[in-house]
Amino acid sequence: MKPIISVKNISKIYQMGPQQLRAIDDVSLDIMPRDFIAVMGPSGSGKSTLAHILALLDTASEGEYFFNETPIGHFSEDELAILRRKQIGFIFQQFNLLPRMTAFDNIILPAFYSKNKYATDNAHILLDSVGLSDRKLHMTNELSGGQQQRVAISRALVNAPRVLFADEPTGNLDSKSESEIIQLLQFLNNQGITIIMVTHENHIGHLAKRLIKLKDGKIDSDERLRSIGERYNLDQIQASEDQVQIKALKSSFKDEVVSEGSFSSFTTPIFDFFEHLVQSFKILVSHKMRTFLSILGILIGVAAVVSMMAIGKGAQDEIQEQLARLGTNLLILRPGFRVGADGVRQQVGAAGRLLPQDGDFLKRAVPSIKRISPVTRGSAQISYDGLNWPSSAEGVWPEYFEMRGFDLADGRIFTQEENANRALVAIIGKTVRESLFSDNADPIGQIIKINRINFQVIGVLGPIGGGGWRDPNDSVFIPLNTAMRRLFGEDYVDRFEIEISDYSLMDFAEHEIIETLSDQKRVPESLRQDAFRVTNLAEIQFAAEQSNRTMSFLLAAIASISLIVGGIGIMNIMLVSVTERTREVGLRKAIGARRFDILFQFLIESVLVSLTGGILGVLFGLMTVFGLSFFGDWTTSISYISIVLAFTFSVFVGIVFGIYPAMKASKLKPIEALRFE
Ligand code: ADP
Ligand code: MG
Repeated sequence: MKPIISVKNISKIYQMGPQQLRAIDDVSLDIMPRDFIAVMGPSGSGKSTLAHILALLDTASEGEYFFNETPIGHFSEDELAILRRKQIGFIFQQFNLLPRMTAFDNIILPAFYSKNKYATDNAHILLDSVGLSDRKLHMTNELSGGQQQRVAISRALVNAPRVLFADEPTGNLDSKSESEIIQLLQFLNNQGITIIMVTHENHIGHLAKRLIKLKDGKIDSDERLRSIGERYNLDQIQASEDQVQIKALKSSFKDEVVSEGSFSSFTTPIFDFFEHLVQSFKILVSHKMRTFLSILGILIGVAAVVSMMAIGKGAQDEIQEQLARLGTNLLILRPGFRVGADGVRQQVGAAGRLLPQDGDFLKRAVPSIKRISPVTRGSAQISYDGLNWPSSAEGVWPEYFEMRGFDLADGRIFTQEENANRALVAIIGKTVRESLFSDNADPIGQIIKINRINFQVIGVLGPIGGGGWRDPNDSVFIPLNTAMRRLFGEDYVDRFEIEISDYSLMDFAEHEIIETLSDQKRVPESLRQDAFRVTNLAEIQFAAEQSNRTMSFLLAAIASISLIVGGIGIMNIMLVSVTERTREVGLRKAIGARRFDILFQFLIESVLVSLTGGILGVLFGLMTVFGLSFFGDWTTSISYISIVLAFTFSVFVGIVFGIYPAMKASKLKPIEALRFE
């Protein structure tokens, strides 16, 4: 008869600092089909190491290994995985069940990789046989030690393996469970399964057919207790009738000749996709807390970026608008002047004089003008109730206030009619109000004197920002016609303030205004250069651009910090579970998963988690933004770039760190991954 497993001069060497530890030292061994071998020896003698090597969970450092007389020294990890899942079952001392999954799901897990189509049938037979059919939908962590071990045995058997390994299968069990498990192993041996059992208990070791004793990694004794053909007498098994069903275990793959090239038949990924999805989903559901935290990490990262960017962008827009109100779109048109030979400014003359009706004309003739108002200014001595206040009076049109963004604190703006009728009404600035009226007085309706003429106060302005050397709040505003005819006695206006509809049209508008007005006033060619002078508030524009740049920089900083913080959060949560996940990978590999199977499952998991977190994060971020602007009156502006950026980055980080443990663990030997701390 040919040995099913044969090893020649194998050693397992661990490098412990400068010293070499020979956990297995030059062992040669033939294992015959249908044998029942007990491996005994003191703790640390190398029993587990030998079992792992024989079961292809670990590789020897030296020596040769033959399975069915085929040398497997050059087999790849994936080829070994396929060999394991078809031929070998392994029962671990610590059970190594996947927690929070049902007994049934644990049992059929190897079939997920081996594609044994009889797995479901087998699983039911096995559950019956080990007396757990009423526990199949229980989570494995709800089972007793003996029950967990029986689940682990069923899992090792589900693919109907030819060789079954058991590493101290009764080590963690009470004596009743112990004898049940041993009888089950004897029964399986009667069915023709080769069994290699590690134990440190003498009475158990002597139930085997062959007893190998190890000492310091070497075979100390090798004793035949019973012939291989002998059948165990199991009359005393109470459940033997159920157990007989184990005979019915089926495998959909033939007992292939193990040889080179027989493992090239990888199933196509497309076919696997749905099953992998289901498998990933099961894991995600079975670890609700971990899944929840991972999703939460990504959610917070994305939501933070989306809302921070919206708030920042909102603030930027608001500042822009306030700056615009200060006059970024404002042109000031004045009569021109010439500098004479003596260096003194001289008016250009009648051609350059500005009349109120020029404003109406320009408004009609130049489409880029949004609003226009003439301004005539003069000093004004204001008095009320015995108090005197030197200030200035400005004659303007009603639209002037809106154009400059002046808000009323109280009262109203004068009307077109009041302007036409030269009404004696005044709107006082904040400083004037504070200088002439006590805090609790109501200025509206009061009569003040401006240069000894009685005016009725109809409005009080709120604070006006900006301005240069002069306090812009220290003014009274009166209708233009009143100012020209009744206060200052002037025929011409000092200047026009003109609001252009768009900032980008400023230069063009400036040119057009001068041309149109020069044409209309028939300014001779020789004077055109100097007839009018247009200035814009260049300083304010400069400030606006400056602040815009600062804000953009600030926004980029906020976005990057949020992204980094979010990314680190995601990374942390993903990495926290690395130990547990590495063990899971070890187990999956031990029962026959290829690297591809592992990576694919983890990839699907990470994509599911990251996408869910990303989408919820965007929704949550948008909700925060809407909440802030709706309830908190914050100015916000959603930037779609930030949504795309946050989503892509977080999902990317989530996926990378989700599959990172799998990448690392899939490179380990199964037993190394299972041992990972
Ligand atoms: P047994 O199962 O007989 O108690 P093991 O096979 O687990 O013993 O271990 C045999 C020897 O190899 C022990 O001395 C143990 O410390 C050592 N050993 C096992 N695994 C490792 C490892 N991963 N790294 C270093 N030494 C190890
Ligand atoms: Mg051990």
